[in-house]
Amino acid sequence: MTRMRYCSTCILPHARPNIRFDTNGLNCNCAAAEKKAAVDWAGREKMFRELVEETRIKGARYDCIIPVSGGKD
Ligand SMILES: [Zn+2]
Repeated sequence: MTRMRYCSTCILPHARPNIRFDTNGLNCNCAAAEKKAAVDWAGREKMFRELVEETRIKGARYDCIIPVSGGKD
């Protein structure tokens, strides 16, 4: 059985059509790495915490977050 291999940056599979990998076979030619580096992670955390505070049910015994992408899931 052959094990599926994935890009170490964006986790796209090697079997994806029209994808190219570097000579090591570790990273694909997508722009995911550059986009990831450009993200303002501290700003994202602040947005997330504000959203949680807005939607939290006050006095609840515990919190539960179910992340979804808004796509097929
Ligand atoms: Zn990639």
